[in-house]
Amino acid sequence: MSKIKMQVPLVEMDGDEMTRIIWKLIKEILLEPYIELNTEYYDLGLENRDKTDDQVTIDAAMAIKKYGVGVKCATITPNAQRVEEYKLKKMWKSPNGTIRAILDGTVFRAPIIVNSIKPFVIGWKKPITIARHAYGDVYKNVEYQVKGAGKAELVFTSSTGEVVRETIHEFDGPGVIMGMHNTDESIRSFARSCFNYALDQKQDLWFSTKDTISKTYDHRFKDIFQEIYDNEYKDKFEAAGIEYFYTLIDDVVARIIRSEGGMVWACKNYDGDVMSDMVASAFGSLAMMTSVLVSPDGKYEYEAAHGTVTRHYYRHLKGEETSTNSMATLFAWTGALRKRGELDGNKELVDFANKLEKASIDTIENGVMTKDLAQLSQVENKKIVNTEQFLREIKLTFDAMK
Ligand code: NAD
Repeated sequence: MSKIKMQVPLVEMDGDEMTRIIWKLIKEILLEPYIELNTEYYDLGLENRDKTDDQVTIDAAMAIKKYGVGVKCATITPNAQRVEEYKLKKMWKSPNGTIRAILDGTVFRAPIIVNSIKPFVIGWKKPITIARHAYGDVYKNVEYQVKGAGKAELVFTSSTGEVVRETIHEFDGPGVIMGMHNTDESIRSFARSCFNYALDQKQDLWFSTKDTISKTYDHRFKDIFQEIYDNEYKDKFEAAGIEYFYTLIDDVVARIIRSEGGMVWACKNYDGDVMSDMVASAFGSLAMMTSVLVSPDGKYEYEAAHGTVTRHYYRHLKGEETSTNSMATLFAWTGALRKRGELDGNKELVDFANKLEKASIDTIENGVMTKDLAQLSQVENKKIVNTEQFLREIKLTFDAMK
């Protein structure tokens, strides 16, 4: 059997710890036997980021801009303890943050659904994708602790010198104040990424804020989404048979819980932070969450939503057996290969990605799984396998499929 060819390279970003080990295994066991992998490789492992003064992260992001599709392994975001552990030159920033800033992207997180693992919300049948705006609001705030009586004001000085002043509160005693911002430009990028992603997935897009209370700030988000929808996406959505739906965040929460899933839910930064963890837990496991960064001009970066699974890595280093779930990392690869195939008109590559996803889901549904899924799965006679065996079992399923 001849291997599938790739015309355009995929940007491959290697990472750290247990996920770096999984990365290599996925390539050896499930990709290289079937595909002539054409990747442009960037080593985002912490040692190489330190060695290159983090230039490698910037180079990788620029390569995604050039080629359009990347796949990334989980990476360590250094803290004080990691600086010590890896003897780093400095506490490098989160690679995800750097890449997100360069691509100006929005992160979409969606669970991998397996029949034998029932979501905690019993009505949920289809994945719910959370789109989180990744700029501003409380994450770029300015805070102040008021020590005693006084007046807090909001002051804006325009570049031409006009001053607008509004009282926030007259304090009789101690309290707290906070200033937040966002920009029309960032909200517009967010909106376009969400509309593009919903079209791509052929799923309805829901958007929520609290504009009844925040009549200027949240209302601006609502207006920008509506304006972009009406001017640029309405016809495309109608042609695709999908819907754009705006409502209050509390209304969405109530509707989502009663729904069967299957929509993209666009959230402001803080809402997305909270809701993506809620949705991940309700669907069962962080190890089954995929994540894709989509830029407003249609560049894609796929990854797992989880981290480098440090605990398992230390066990692995001691020579102990691990049972780490590779599903989300595998789906990062299949997502990226499918997108590459779609963009290049490479049907063989698209079919391969779909088939590999099905093989991995079938494997779990047939009762073969890693330890983390064992307590969640309803299948009888489970076979719990180690990290490498799991991938080999997927290969067996894959090879047995027509
Ligand atoms: P983690 O996601 O690695 O682990 C959190 C918990 O979930 C752990 O209990 C772990 O055992 C479990 N878990 C996660 N993925 C699993 C899998 N595939 N199989 C089985 N169990 C799994 O997060 P953490 O422990 O908070 O962070 C570890 C490192 O990962 C940190 O250095 C952090 O900076 C990094 N991190 C990277 C990313 C990224 O690159 N996108 C995201 C989060 C954390």
